[in-house]
Amino acid sequence: MGAYIARMTRHEGRAQGGDGNPPSATTRGTGAKPIVYVARALPGDAFARLRELTDLRGGDPTPRPREEQIALAADAVVYVPTYLDPVDAALLEALPLLRLVASYGVGTDHIDLAACRARGVVITNTPGVLTEATADLTFALLLAAARRVAEGDRFVRAGLWTSIDPTQFLGCDVHGRMLGLIGFGRIGQAVARRAYGFGMKVIYASPRTVDFPGLRRLPLEELLAAADFVSIHCPLTEETRGLLSKERLALMKPGAVLVNTARGAIVDETALADALASGHLRAAGIDVFTAEPSVSPVLRAQPHVVLTPHIGSGSTEARLAMSQIVADEIRRFVAGEHLRHRVV
Ligand code: NAP
Repeated sequence: MGAYIARMTRHEGRAQGGDGNPPSATTRGTGAKPIVYVARALPGDAFARLRELTDLRGGDPTPRPREEQIALAADAVVYVPTYLDPVDAALLEALPLLRLVASYGVGTDHIDLAACRARGVVITNTPGVLTEATADLTFALLLAAARRVAEGDRFVRAGLWTSIDPTQFLGCDVHGRMLGLIGFGRIGQAVARRAYGFGMKVIYASPRTVDFPGLRRLPLEELLAAADFVSIHCPLTEETRGLLSKERLALMKPGAVLVNTARGAIVDETALADALASGHLRAAGIDVFTAEPSVSPVLRAQPHVVLTPHIGSGSTEARLAMSQIVADEIRRFVAGEHLRHRVV
Protein backbone atom coordinates (compact mmCIF):
# COMPACT_ATOMS: atom_id res chain seq x y z
CA MET A 1 0.00 0.00 0.00
CA GLY A 2 2.94 2.30 0.68
CA ALA A 3 3.95 2.19 -2.97
CA TYR A 4 0.40 2.99 -3.98
CA ILE A 5 0.33 6.07 -1.76
CA ALA A 6 3.65 7.28 -3.10
CA ARG A 7 2.54 6.84 -6.68
CA MET A 8 -0.79 8.55 -6.09
CA THR A 9 0.84 11.57 -4.51
CA ARG A 10 3.35 11.89 -7.36
CA HIS A 11 0.67 11.79 -10.02
CA GLU A 12 -1.49 14.24 -8.18
CA GLY A 13 1.32 16.75 -8.04
CA ARG A 14 1.58 16.53 -11.82
CA ALA A 15 -2.14 16.59 -12.47
CA GLN A 16 -2.47 19.71 -10.32
CA GLY A 17 0.24 21.52 -12.20
CA GLY A 18 2.70 20.96 -9.37
CA ASP A 19 1.45 23.82 -7.23
CA GLY A 20 2.63 21.94 -4.18
CA ASN A 21 -0.76 21.91 -2.44
CA PRO A 22 -1.66 18.43 -1.28
CA PRO A 23 -4.75 17.44 -3.25
CA SER A 24 -7.75 16.06 -1.44
CA ALA A 25 -6.95 12.53 -2.56
CA THR A 26 -3.80 12.50 -0.47
CA THR A 27 -5.83 12.20 2.68
CA ARG A 28 -7.53 9.17 1.15
CA GLY A 29 -4.11 7.61 0.78
CA THR A 30 -3.42 7.60 4.49
CA GLY A 31 -4.84 4.16 5.04
CA ALA A 32 -8.11 3.96 3.15
CA LYS A 33 -8.22 1.26 0.51
CA PRO A 34 -8.17 2.63 -3.04
CA ILE A 35 -11.60 2.56 -4.62
CA VAL A 36 -11.90 0.35 -7.71
CA TYR A 37 -15.04 0.89 -9.76
CA VAL A 38 -15.99 -1.93 -12.17
CA ALA A 39 -18.35 -0.67 -14.89
CA ARG A 40 -20.24 -3.94 -15.35
CA ALA A 41 -20.20 -7.51 -14.06
CA LEU A 42 -17.23 -9.54 -15.26
CA PRO A 43 -17.05 -13.34 -15.32
CA GLY A 44 -15.22 -15.43 -12.74
CA ASP A 45 -13.94 -14.72 -9.24
CA ALA A 46 -10.57 -13.18 -10.13
CA PHE A 47 -11.58 -9.98 -8.34
CA ALA A 48 -12.43 -11.71 -5.06
CA ARG A 49 -8.87 -11.47 -3.72
CA LEU A 50 -8.75 -7.78 -4.55
CA ARG A 51 -11.21 -7.11 -1.75
CA GLU A 52 -8.39 -7.36 0.77
CA LEU A 53 -6.45 -4.62 -1.01
CA THR A 54 -9.12 -2.40 -2.48
CA ASP A 55 -12.58 -1.03 -1.93
CA LEU A 56 -14.28 -2.83 -4.81
CA ARG A 57 -17.47 -1.26 -6.16
CA GLY A 58 -19.82 -1.54 -9.14
CA GLY A 59 -19.86 -4.70 -11.22
CA ASP A 60 -23.63 -4.63 -11.37
CA PRO A 61 -25.14 -7.43 -13.50
CA THR A 62 -27.37 -4.82 -15.13
CA PRO A 63 -25.09 -1.89 -15.91
CA ARG A 64 -26.24 1.40 -14.44
CA PRO A 65 -26.88 4.44 -16.65
CA ARG A 66 -23.65 6.31 -17.36
CA GLU A 67 -24.53 9.35 -15.21
CA GLU A 68 -25.26 7.11 -12.23
CA GLN A 69 -22.04 5.16 -12.78
CA ILE A 70 -19.98 8.33 -12.95
CA ALA A 71 -21.56 9.59 -9.73
CA LEU A 72 -20.87 6.29 -7.95
CA ALA A 73 -17.31 6.14 -9.29
CA ALA A 74 -16.51 9.72 -8.28
CA ASP A 75 -13.80 8.74 -5.76
CA ALA A 76 -12.41 5.85 -7.78
CA VAL A 77 -8.64 5.52 -8.19
CA VAL A 78 -9.08 2.60 -10.57
CA TYR A 79 -11.81 2.30 -13.21
CA VAL A 80 -12.51 -0.97 -15.05
CA PRO A 81 -14.43 -0.33 -18.28
CA THR A 82 -15.38 -2.58 -21.16
CA TYR A 83 -15.40 -1.30 -24.75
CA LEU A 84 -18.97 -0.05 -24.08
CA ASP A 85 -17.88 2.29 -21.27
CA PRO A 86 -16.24 5.40 -22.75
CA VAL A 87 -13.32 6.90 -20.88
CA ASP A 88 -13.58 10.43 -22.20
CA ALA A 89 -12.92 13.96 -20.98
CA ALA A 90 -16.24 14.05 -19.10
CA LEU A 91 -15.42 10.90 -17.15
CA LEU A 92 -11.87 12.05 -16.40
CA GLU A 93 -13.24 15.36 -15.17
CA ALA A 94 -15.75 13.61 -12.91
CA LEU A 95 -13.19 11.17 -11.45
CA PRO A 96 -10.39 13.47 -10.25
CA LEU A 97 -8.62 10.73 -8.24
CA LEU A 98 -8.45 8.33 -11.18
CA ARG A 99 -4.94 6.90 -11.77
CA LEU A 100 -5.53 3.58 -13.56
CA VAL A 101 -7.97 2.52 -16.28
CA ALA A 102 -7.72 -1.28 -16.39
CA SER A 103 -9.76 -1.99 -19.48
CA TYR A 104 -11.43 -5.37 -20.02
CA GLY A 105 -10.57 -6.15 -23.67
CA VAL A 106 -7.79 -5.41 -26.12
CA GLY A 107 -9.29 -2.51 -28.14
CA THR A 108 -8.74 0.98 -26.71
CA ASP A 109 -10.95 3.00 -29.07
CA HIS A 110 -13.38 3.76 -26.19
CA ILE A 111 -10.59 5.54 -24.31
CA ASP A 112 -9.33 9.07 -24.92
CA LEU A 113 -5.67 8.08 -24.70
CA ALA A 114 -4.35 11.62 -25.11
CA ALA A 115 -6.54 12.96 -22.30
CA CYS A 116 -5.44 10.11 -20.03
CA ARG A 117 -1.80 10.74 -20.88
CA ALA A 118 -2.20 14.45 -20.13
CA ARG A 119 -3.63 13.64 -16.68
CA GLY A 120 -1.10 10.95 -15.86
CA VAL A 121 -3.78 8.25 -15.94
CA VAL A 122 -2.31 4.86 -16.83
CA ILE A 123 -4.17 2.51 -19.22
CA THR A 124 -3.89 -1.28 -19.34
CA ASN A 125 -5.70 -3.82 -21.55
CA THR A 126 -5.95 -7.61 -21.90
CA PRO A 127 -4.17 -8.65 -25.12
CA GLY A 128 -3.20 -12.16 -26.16
CA VAL A 129 -5.58 -14.28 -24.06
CA LEU A 130 -8.49 -13.53 -26.41
CA THR A 131 -6.59 -13.92 -29.69
CA GLU A 132 -7.44 -17.55 -30.44
CA ALA A 133 -11.07 -17.20 -29.31
CA THR A 134 -11.57 -14.20 -31.58
CA ALA A 135 -9.91 -16.01 -34.49
CA ASP A 136 -12.25 -18.97 -33.91
CA LEU A 137 -15.32 -16.70 -34.02
CA THR A 138 -13.95 -15.04 -37.17
CA PHE A 139 -13.75 -18.41 -38.83
CA ALA A 140 -17.19 -19.40 -37.55
CA LEU A 141 -18.63 -16.28 -39.22
CA LEU A 142 -16.63 -16.84 -42.41
CA LEU A 143 -17.89 -20.42 -42.75
CA ALA A 144 -21.45 -19.53 -41.69
CA ALA A 145 -21.60 -16.71 -44.25
CA ALA A 146 -20.11 -18.83 -47.04
CA ARG A 147 -22.39 -21.80 -46.38
CA ARG A 148 -25.54 -19.92 -45.31
CA VAL A 149 -25.66 -21.62 -41.92
CA ALA A 150 -27.84 -19.01 -40.17
CA GLU A 151 -30.28 -18.84 -43.09
CA GLY A 152 -30.57 -22.62 -43.08
CA ASP A 153 -31.09 -22.66 -39.34
CA ARG A 154 -33.94 -20.12 -39.58
CA PHE A 155 -35.51 -22.13 -42.42
CA VAL A 156 -35.48 -25.42 -40.48
CA ARG A 157 -36.77 -23.83 -37.26
CA ALA A 158 -39.62 -22.18 -39.14
CA GLY A 159 -40.79 -25.61 -40.32
CA LEU A 160 -40.22 -24.62 -43.96
CA TRP A 161 -38.07 -27.65 -44.88
CA THR A 162 -40.68 -29.82 -46.54
CA SER A 163 -38.92 -31.27 -49.58
CA ILE A 164 -35.42 -32.21 -50.72
CA ASP A 165 -34.25 -29.60 -53.20
CA PRO A 166 -30.65 -29.80 -54.51
CA THR A 167 -30.86 -26.19 -55.66
CA GLN A 168 -31.59 -24.82 -52.19
CA PHE A 169 -29.19 -22.87 -49.97
CA LEU A 170 -26.20 -23.09 -52.27
CA GLY A 171 -23.19 -21.40 -50.73
CA CYS A 172 -19.62 -21.07 -51.95
CA ASP A 173 -16.46 -23.05 -51.40
CA VAL A 174 -13.93 -21.88 -48.84
CA HIS A 175 -11.03 -24.17 -49.73
CA GLY A 176 -8.76 -22.88 -52.47
CA ARG A 177 -10.13 -19.32 -52.14
CA MET A 178 -8.20 -16.16 -51.36
CA LEU A 179 -8.55 -14.62 -47.89
CA GLY A 180 -7.53 -10.96 -47.51
CA LEU A 181 -6.75 -9.82 -43.96
CA ILE A 182 -6.91 -6.12 -43.11
CA GLY A 183 -4.65 -5.83 -40.07
CA PHE A 184 -2.11 -8.53 -39.45
CA GLY A 185 -1.37 -8.47 -35.73
CA ARG A 186 -2.17 -11.14 -33.16
CA ILE A 187 -5.71 -11.96 -34.32
CA GLY A 188 -5.03 -11.51 -38.04
CA GLN A 189 -2.16 -14.00 -37.82
CA ALA A 190 -4.27 -16.48 -35.82
CA VAL A 191 -6.91 -16.29 -38.56
CA ALA A 192 -4.22 -16.88 -41.21
CA ARG A 193 -3.14 -20.07 -39.42
CA ARG A 194 -6.73 -21.34 -39.50
CA ALA A 195 -7.10 -20.37 -43.17
CA TYR A 196 -4.12 -22.57 -44.08
CA GLY A 197 -5.86 -25.51 -42.39
CA PHE A 198 -8.87 -24.87 -44.62
CA GLY A 199 -6.73 -24.84 -47.78
CA MET A 200 -7.11 -21.10 -48.37
CA LYS A 201 -4.54 -18.68 -49.79
CA VAL A 202 -3.87 -15.61 -47.67
CA ILE A 203 -2.82 -11.99 -48.35
CA TYR A 204 -2.80 -9.07 -45.94
CA ALA A 205 -2.81 -5.28 -45.77
CA SER A 206 -0.96 -3.71 -42.86
CA PRO A 207 1.22 -0.66 -42.17
CA ARG A 208 4.24 -2.96 -41.81
CA THR A 209 5.50 -6.17 -43.37
CA VAL A 210 5.18 -9.02 -40.90
CA ASP A 211 7.54 -11.95 -40.81
CA PHE A 212 5.06 -14.72 -41.60
CA PRO A 213 6.10 -17.51 -43.99
CA GLY A 214 4.68 -17.38 -47.51
CA LEU A 215 2.34 -14.41 -47.10
CA ARG A 216 2.15 -11.36 -49.36
CA ARG A 217 1.46 -7.84 -48.09
CA LEU A 218 -0.58 -5.78 -50.54
CA PRO A 219 -1.92 -2.23 -50.62
CA LEU A 220 -5.51 -2.24 -49.33
CA GLU A 221 -7.09 -1.51 -52.72
CA GLU A 222 -5.22 -4.40 -54.37
CA LEU A 223 -6.19 -6.74 -51.55
CA LEU A 224 -9.87 -5.81 -51.91
CA ALA A 225 -9.76 -6.51 -55.64
CA ALA A 226 -8.02 -9.88 -55.20
CA ALA A 227 -9.71 -11.50 -52.19
CA ASP A 228 -12.76 -13.80 -52.19
CA PHE A 229 -13.07 -13.30 -48.45
CA VAL A 230 -12.02 -10.13 -46.62
CA SER A 231 -11.66 -10.16 -42.84
CA ILE A 232 -10.95 -7.08 -40.71
CA HIS A 233 -8.44 -7.20 -37.82
CA CYS A 234 -7.08 -3.68 -37.43
CA PRO A 235 -7.89 -1.41 -34.46
CA LEU A 236 -10.44 1.39 -34.74
CA THR A 237 -8.45 4.62 -35.01
CA GLU A 238 -9.02 7.95 -36.72
CA GLU A 239 -7.26 6.40 -39.73
CA THR A 240 -9.39 3.24 -39.89
CA ARG A 241 -12.79 4.80 -39.09
CA GLY A 242 -14.88 4.28 -42.25
CA LEU A 243 -11.97 2.46 -43.95
CA LEU A 244 -14.39 0.11 -45.71
CA SER A 245 -16.30 2.96 -47.33
CA LYS A 246 -18.83 2.68 -50.15
CA GLU A 247 -16.01 3.23 -52.65
CA ARG A 248 -13.76 0.58 -51.13
CA LEU A 249 -16.60 -1.95 -50.79
CA ALA A 250 -17.20 -1.39 -54.52
CA LEU A 251 -13.59 -2.48 -55.15
CA MET A 252 -14.28 -5.90 -53.63
CA LYS A 253 -14.69 -8.81 -56.02
CA PRO A 254 -18.28 -9.47 -57.11
CA GLY A 255 -19.57 -12.31 -54.94
CA ALA A 256 -16.98 -11.76 -52.19
CA VAL A 257 -17.70 -12.20 -48.47
CA LEU A 258 -16.85 -9.64 -45.75
CA VAL A 259 -16.18 -10.60 -42.14
CA ASN A 260 -15.75 -8.03 -39.36
CA THR A 261 -14.78 -9.00 -35.82
CA ALA A 262 -12.69 -5.85 -35.21
CA ARG A 263 -14.86 -2.75 -34.70
CA GLY A 264 -18.13 -1.74 -36.37
CA ALA A 265 -17.16 1.82 -37.26
CA ILE A 266 -14.41 0.55 -39.59
CA VAL A 267 -17.18 -0.36 -42.07
CA ASP A 268 -19.85 1.90 -43.59
CA GLU A 269 -22.78 -0.28 -42.51
CA THR A 270 -25.31 1.34 -44.86
CA ALA A 271 -22.97 0.86 -47.83
CA LEU A 272 -22.42 -2.76 -46.75
CA ALA A 273 -26.18 -3.38 -46.60
CA ASP A 274 -26.50 -1.84 -50.09
CA ALA A 275 -23.69 -4.03 -51.44
CA LEU A 276 -25.45 -7.11 -50.04
CA ALA A 277 -28.86 -6.03 -51.34
CA SER A 278 -27.52 -5.39 -54.85
CA GLY A 279 -25.79 -8.79 -54.85
CA HIS A 280 -22.36 -7.22 -55.32
CA LEU A 281 -21.31 -8.98 -52.11
CA ARG A 282 -22.45 -12.56 -51.56
CA ALA A 283 -22.61 -12.45 -47.77
CA ALA A 284 -21.14 -11.02 -44.61
CA GLY A 285 -20.40 -12.13 -41.06
CA ILE A 286 -20.48 -9.29 -38.55
CA ASP A 287 -19.74 -9.40 -34.81
CA VAL A 288 -19.23 -5.67 -34.20
CA PHE A 289 -21.41 -2.65 -34.92
CA THR A 290 -21.10 1.12 -34.94
CA ALA A 291 -23.68 1.81 -32.21
CA GLU A 292 -23.62 -1.32 -30.04
CA PRO A 293 -25.72 -2.81 -28.63
CA SER A 294 -28.02 -1.33 -31.26
CA VAL A 295 -27.71 -2.86 -34.74
CA SER A 296 -28.65 -0.90 -37.80
CA PRO A 297 -32.05 -2.01 -39.22
CA VAL A 298 -30.60 -1.99 -42.75
CA LEU A 299 -28.13 -4.70 -41.74
CA ARG A 300 -30.70 -6.69 -39.80
CA ALA A 301 -32.91 -6.67 -42.89
CA GLN A 302 -30.29 -8.49 -44.99
CA PRO A 303 -30.74 -12.28 -45.04
CA HIS A 304 -27.18 -12.92 -46.22
CA VAL A 305 -25.49 -11.40 -43.21
CA VAL A 306 -24.73 -13.47 -40.12
CA LEU A 307 -24.91 -11.28 -37.01
CA THR A 308 -23.43 -12.00 -33.58
CA PRO A 309 -23.52 -9.75 -30.49
CA HIS A 310 -19.81 -8.88 -30.10
CA ILE A 311 -18.79 -12.33 -28.86
CA GLY A 312 -15.37 -12.53 -30.52
CA SER A 313 -13.63 -13.10 -27.19
CA GLY A 314 -16.66 -14.92 -25.79
CA SER A 315 -15.24 -18.30 -24.85
CA THR A 316 -15.41 -19.02 -21.13
CA GLU A 317 -11.66 -19.59 -21.06
CA ALA A 318 -10.81 -16.30 -22.78
CA ARG A 319 -13.23 -14.21 -20.73
CA LEU A 320 -11.97 -15.69 -17.43
CA ALA A 321 -8.38 -15.06 -18.50
CA MET A 322 -9.27 -11.44 -19.30
CA SER A 323 -10.77 -11.01 -15.81
CA GLN A 324 -7.59 -12.47 -14.32
CA ILE A 325 -5.36 -10.05 -16.25
CA VAL A 326 -7.41 -7.06 -15.09
CA ALA A 327 -7.34 -8.23 -11.45
CA ASP A 328 -3.58 -8.93 -11.64
CA GLU A 329 -2.85 -5.51 -13.10
CA ILE A 330 -4.85 -3.80 -10.36
CA ARG A 331 -3.01 -5.79 -7.69
CA ARG A 332 0.34 -4.82 -9.26
CA PHE A 333 -0.72 -1.20 -9.47
CA VAL A 334 -1.70 -1.08 -5.81
CA ALA A 335 1.59 -2.76 -4.89
CA GLY A 336 3.55 -0.30 -7.02
CA GLU A 337 4.83 -3.10 -9.27
CA HIS A 338 5.57 -2.99 -12.99
CA LEU A 339 2.37 -3.29 -15.07
CA ARG A 340 2.53 -5.98 -17.78
CA HIS A 341 -0.09 -4.70 -20.23
CA ARG A 342 0.36 -0.97 -20.16
CA VAL A 343 -0.97 0.91 -23.22
CA VAL A 344 -0.34 4.46 -21.93
P1 NAP B 1 -2.92 -6.09 -32.76
O1 NAP B 1 -2.10 -7.30 -32.43
O2 NAP B 1 -2.46 -4.76 -32.30
O3 NAP B 1 -3.12 -6.06 -34.36
C1 NAP B 1 -3.69 -4.99 -35.05
C2 NAP B 1 -2.95 -4.87 -36.35
O4 NAP B 1 -3.64 -3.92 -37.18
C3 NAP B 1 -1.51 -4.40 -36.17
O5 NAP B 1 -0.67 -5.26 -36.88
C4 NAP B 1 -1.54 -3.00 -36.80
O6 NAP B 1 -0.32 -2.66 -37.41
C5 NAP B 1 -2.63 -3.16 -37.84
N1 NAP B 1 -3.13 -1.89 -38.34
C6 NAP B 1 -3.15 -0.68 -37.73
N2 NAP B 1 -3.66 0.24 -38.58
C7 NAP B 1 -3.95 -0.40 -39.74
C8 NAP B 1 -4.49 0.00 -40.98
N3 NAP B 1 -4.83 1.28 -41.21
N4 NAP B 1 -4.64 -0.92 -41.95
C9 NAP B 1 -4.30 -2.20 -41.74
N5 NAP B 1 -3.77 -2.64 -40.58
C10 NAP B 1 -3.62 -1.76 -39.59
O7 NAP B 1 -4.40 -6.27 -32.20
P2 NAP B 1 -5.25 -7.63 -32.08
O8 NAP B 1 -5.07 -8.21 -30.73
O9 NAP B 1 -5.00 -8.46 -33.28
O10 NAP B 1 -6.74 -7.02 -32.13
C11 NAP B 1 -7.19 -6.32 -33.27
C12 NAP B 1 -8.52 -5.64 -33.00
O11 NAP B 1 -9.53 -6.63 -32.88
C13 NAP B 1 -8.59 -4.89 -31.66
O12 NAP B 1 -8.10 -3.56 -31.80
C14 NAP B 1 -10.06 -4.92 -31.32
O13 NAP B 1 -10.68 -3.74 -31.77
C15 NAP B 1 -10.60 -6.11 -32.10
N6 NAP B 1 -11.07 -7.20 -31.21
C16 NAP B 1 -12.38 -7.56 -31.26
C17 NAP B 1 -12.82 -8.61 -30.46
C18 NAP B 1 -14.25 -9.05 -30.48
O14 NAP B 1 -14.73 -9.52 -29.46
N7 NAP B 1 -14.93 -8.99 -31.61
C19 NAP B 1 -11.92 -9.28 -29.60
C20 NAP B 1 -10.60 -8.88 -29.60
C21 NAP B 1 -10.17 -7.83 -30.40
P3 NAP B 1 0.78 -1.83 -36.57
O15 NAP B 1 1.16 -2.69 -35.41
O16 NAP B 1 1.87 -1.65 -37.57
O17 NAP B 1 0.11 -0.56 -36.16
